[in-house]
Amino acid sequence: MANLHSALAEEAKSEARAKTAFVLATFYVSLAAGSCLRAQPTVVLFVVDGLQNDAAQIAAANGATHLKFFLHHGVRVEEALCTSPSAVVILPDSSRPWGTAAPPNVAMHTGTHVFESRAIDDVFLAARRSGIRSVFAGSADNYNVFTSADFHHARSYTDSFCVAFAVEHLVRDTVRLFSIHLQELRRAWKGPAGKVDPLSSYQQSLLHADRQLGRLIDAVKSAGRWESTYVVIASDHGMGTTERSDHPASEPTSWRSFMCFYGPGIRQGATIPYAETPDIAVLISGKRRDESLLVVALRRSPIWKWEHLRTWSGRTGGCVETLSAGRYESAFPVGEIGEVEQHQSALPGVAFGDIDASCVVYFRTRDRWVHLWLSD
Ligand SMILES: [Zn+2]
Repeated sequence: MANLHSALAEEAKSEARAKTAFVLATFYVSLAAGSCLRAQPTVVLFVVDGLQNDAAQIAAANGATHLKFFLHHGVRVEEALCTSPSAVVILPDSSRPWGTAAPPNVAMHTGTHVFESRAIDDVFLAARRSGIRSVFAGSADNYNVFTSADFHHARSYTDSFCVAFAVEHLVRDTVRLFSIHLQELRRAWKGPAGKVDPLSSYQQSLLHADRQLGRLIDAVKSAGRWESTYVVIASDHGMGTTERSDHPASEPTSWRSFMCFYGPGIRQGATIPYAETPDIAVLISGKRRDESLLVVALRRSPIWKWEHLRTWSGRTGGCVETLSAGRYESAFPVGEIGEVEQHQSALPGVAFGDIDASCVVYFRTRDRWVHLWLSD
């Protein structure tokens, strides 16, 4: 959906993004369809907080051997953008569904831009439906809202402990989906100059993160699972431009994250032009299921009202996004109740689409919903 939204919002990038959606959706087949692989696949999502492309490249050239391996033998995203890098969702009743976890951390597990509720499907639940055990381990208290993995740990403690937690469950519980979030790198931030200085404390800390990655990979190899393992290395967001270790939404650099993926059947040493954080969940799970549900929130002060718009059977995906007010033309003749050929809306609409880029847009008008198809 990230791709879908962008294609509609920025025509200039539409082709590249559509290609990305296709590439990622294709990889899904490799990751999720274990039956067509010799061994059951293992997936490692390895998140290093605030890591950016330039810092990763410098580290890879100066001793980060594991990062170097994945950059050389996997696919790197040239322009990886995160969802809002610093906002925290606060609902009208003052509740925070995801605590203080920034939206990209939600998006990379759910594959959506929906942050208003924790009652949402994610990669861990998708794994469980497929009989796959999962681990989430993060070295900051922020991430203690991610509790749907079979085994989860989140505490402002060491990166090393996170990896030890993952390795323990890898061996003892035959876990096949890992989401690891290392936070220690952020403590070494002294500003953008240090980010790309091989001698800086930031780069030294990145070498430490690389060694943690190596420990996990070694454990996967010792378990005899390396040949069927997929690795996604990413960050949740970029960083700001001051000596403060933060990532304000007002700084474009805060939106530039890192993304690289590797595994059997995936091209080696290649790049793709563009991807966004929600694409990670699409890549890991495909968000595939037999039925897709569209639920939207109507703002009715002081509480939100949830409305079930539609359930499609036999549809895959289920990505939701808002579209700006304006004039929309249907790509197809009117075919069902509530469907219109065109609509001029003064209010934003809700778009619902698949990972393969079909898209229907709903608009609320005079207390009823109308919709039109933008693509199929
Ligand atoms: Zn973060």
